[in-house]
Amino acid sequence: MNDVQTRPLLSVDLEHWCDEHNVPGYRAGQIRRWVYERRANSFAEMNDLPQALRTQLEAEFTLFTSTIVRHQVSTDRTEKLLLKLEDGETVECVLMRETGRRTVCISTQVGCGMGCIFCASGLMGVKRNLTTAEILEQVLRLDRVMKDNERIANIVVMGMGEPLANLQALMPALRTLTMLVTEPGGGMGLSPRRITVSTVGLPDRMRELADSDFGCNLAVSLHAPNDELRSRIVPVNKGTGIAAILGAADDYFQKTGRRVSYEYVLLAGINDEPEHARELAKLLRGHQAHVNVIPMNAVSPLDLSGSSQERTNSFVHELQACGINVTVRKRKGADIDAACGQLRLSESEHVMLDAAPT
Ligand code: SAH
Repeated sequence: MNDVQTRPLLSVDLEHWCDEHNVPGYRAGQIRRWVYERRANSFAEMNDLPQALRTQLEAEFTLFTSTIVRHQVSTDRTEKLLLKLEDGETVECVLMRETGRRTVCISTQVGCGMGCIFCASGLMGVKRNLTTAEILEQVLRLDRVMKDNERIANIVVMGMGEPLANLQALMPALRTLTMLVTEPGGGMGLSPRRITVSTVGLPDRMRELADSDFGCNLAVSLHAPNDELRSRIVPVNKGTGIAAILGAADDYFQKTGRRVSYEYVLLAGINDEPEHARELAKLLRGHQAHVNVIPMNAVSPLDLSGSSQERTNSFVHELQACGINVTVRKRKGADIDAACGQLRLSESEHVMLDAAPT
């Protein structure tokens, strides 16, 4: 059980702590190796640390503050964890496997405040931002789910929440993941090029990310080729507008050299007409852009469905005919509710059912 007095280890400056406690500085590096490289699940395992130090760490810190309340494994070996945080809130994170490549998808908020009409995370609004430690913990939990010979290759910040609405906690987490384990404040030594942050499109925050010089990939959830339709699908668009988002995305490319990709979830009868594809191509012409067409994952309480295979193919062909780079995202973990927010949603449905008077 977590002691209320303990602090999350992942939020601690270990060099500083060692210094304050008369512990030799190299111990900080040893602890980091256990956390980020050697996949320790307890302080007791850290057997190159003196017993007294392990006891001291145990008394003062919690290695992981969450508990795994659900762990699902899909037939395609996608794995999804529902983590319960210290305050009882839950978040999801996902491990996706492709030949020779492991990608983890992490959340940045409990719920989401953006309200996109097809998304499970937005259904209950945003509860709170995750802390840096809670963001890091998702990566480490998934790292421990993998086999000994598997390593994380990519991180996508595409789980629950709007990452750019929580940059203050996200950036320190991403920096840690890119720093070497030997560096104070490190890390997993992942290249920023292996990290993709997906945003609903908040222009000011996109500029802030560009100015941070971090150099990760940026994905923008566009979902419509004009403001009228986009504002229906992505309500926050009313306050921003596509032109401002494209402007900020172009600046992002200029500053970082990283191409921006545009996500487009195909919703049957809403944004999947060939005419929409042509309009999208026209909109993106002259911009450094790559379109990622995403089949919609069904979300049970929503009266929306994804486009048919045929419809998807013709949308993609139309874009290609107009000279746009396009890929269709493979569906992963469809049998385990892998669309972001779905597991948390179904968990709360269980809770609601359990609580309902019979
Ligand atoms: N808030 C951020 C990141 C989280 S959502 C954003 O909007 O980009 C990550 C991606 O998953 C977004 O492109 C989002 O539109 C998409 N998504 C959400 N619900 C989905 C669903 N039911 N089916 C398919 N994609 C979905």
